[in-house]
Amino acid sequence: MKVFKFGGASVKNAEAVRNVGEIISKYSSGKLLVVISAMGKTTNKLEELMQAYFSNNTSSKEIVIKELKQFHFGIADALIPDKKHHIYSDLEDLFMELECLVDKQFESVSYDEMYDGIICYGELLSTKIVSDYLHSIDVKTKWVDARNFIQTDSNFREASVKWNETEETVNRILKPFIDRSIVITQGFIGRDEKNNTTTLGREGSDYTAAIFAYCLDAENVTIWKDVAGVMNADPKRFENAQKLSSINYNQAIELAYYGASVIHPKTIQPLKSKNISLYVNSFINMDDEGTVVNNQAENLNQACYIVKEKQTQLSFSTKNYSFIAEENLSYIFEAFAKHKVRINVMQNSAISFSACCDTKENKIEDLMNELKEYFIIESIPECVLLTVYNSTQNEDLPSIYQNKTVLLKQMLGHTIQMVIK
Ligand code: ASP
Ligand code: MG
Repeated sequence: MKVFKFGGASVKNAEAVRNVGEIISKYSSGKLLVVISAMGKTTNKLEELMQAYFSNNTSSKEIVIKELKQFHFGIADALIPDKKHHIYSDLEDLFMELECLVDKQFESVSYDEMYDGIICYGELLSTKIVSDYLHSIDVKTKWVDARNFIQTDSNFREASVKWNETEETVNRILKPFIDRSIVITQGFIGRDEKNNTTTLGREGSDYTAAIFAYCLDAENVTIWKDVAGVMNADPKRFENAQKLSSINYNQAIELAYYGASVIHPKTIQPLKSKNISLYVNSFINMDDEGTVVNNQAENLNQACYIVKEKQTQLSFSTKNYSFIAEENLSYIFEAFAKHKVRINVMQNSAISFSACCDTKENKIEDLMNELKEYFIIESIPECVLLTVYNSTQNEDLPSIYQNKTVLLKQMLGHTIQMVIK
């Protein structure tokens, strides 16, 4: 049994979906589970809807929903021209649910819970379209709601998987279906004990593929991308980016941890634990060899450049001139954990602590409000975190990062990290 994952770019328009259909039909003789993300930039659009909902802005809610409808119906229309096909009423049902959900202000529902309730529609819509399109070209598929299988805690937007429950249900209920036909399901989404939708964190569909592969003891997982494989740098930013033909699990985990965006950070662990190979292939040149991540790969020595944008650099110093030591640090860390602000690099000196973290809506503000009574806090928004993995310390910085201010620099083994503004 194999697991495939197609991301947003691979289903961004009708032509792309046809290409996905070609890839899937080529593999349709074996057992296959296919995980699909929201189409194109739909998740970002749904985040706009979330903003409109929270600011109770009726007209922008309407505008966003209208755009989402146009986009999805447009793709369905190009793929399945028969207007009597049930895809049209299925999509209408989903949109009606979404409209009702954002119609009322629910006082008792937290921001994060509402976020997951809204954001899951991207994946639900896209999988309906792809699955019905495949049917229409005679590829037999079964559409499955991933939330029935991916069971999680209630940590909305960053939910943790309940592995035992998930593995048991996948094997008992889902496996017999995969024995009979190709299963199409959503990435990124799950459900908690109270039946609420949860998500695994942005870009979490890769992780979903790994979870299913783990539970099903799959032979391998293939992530189909718009790049040739895992590169040593983002080809859109770095001229001489090169494809890496193989990477071992540990180095892949490190690269993903530093922010290499081709693989979601949590994806590798479950695959590593069952020795399931991960292929990263191009959906544009589907027969080209991409990258394989497995146990056998030799250690990489090549420098890899990883850029993380949307970073905020925070610096804390104490108001009472006390040192930044255990007590103050534990207080600071507690607040980071409570407000779910992720630290990517940190450094401390006697009287100050600096952290470069992901910029996420109002979370940093909440964190600062909590700590401002005891600390003088400086916040520098719109920073970039550049990591050079396997650095020789001699490589030139790519030109877009030259003449910028380096706010923080750290070296650990052969890895250099810089916060740049
Ligand atoms: N649609 C989700 C996102 O854009 C999940 C994914 O694409 O992996 O973050
Ligand atoms: Mg994606």
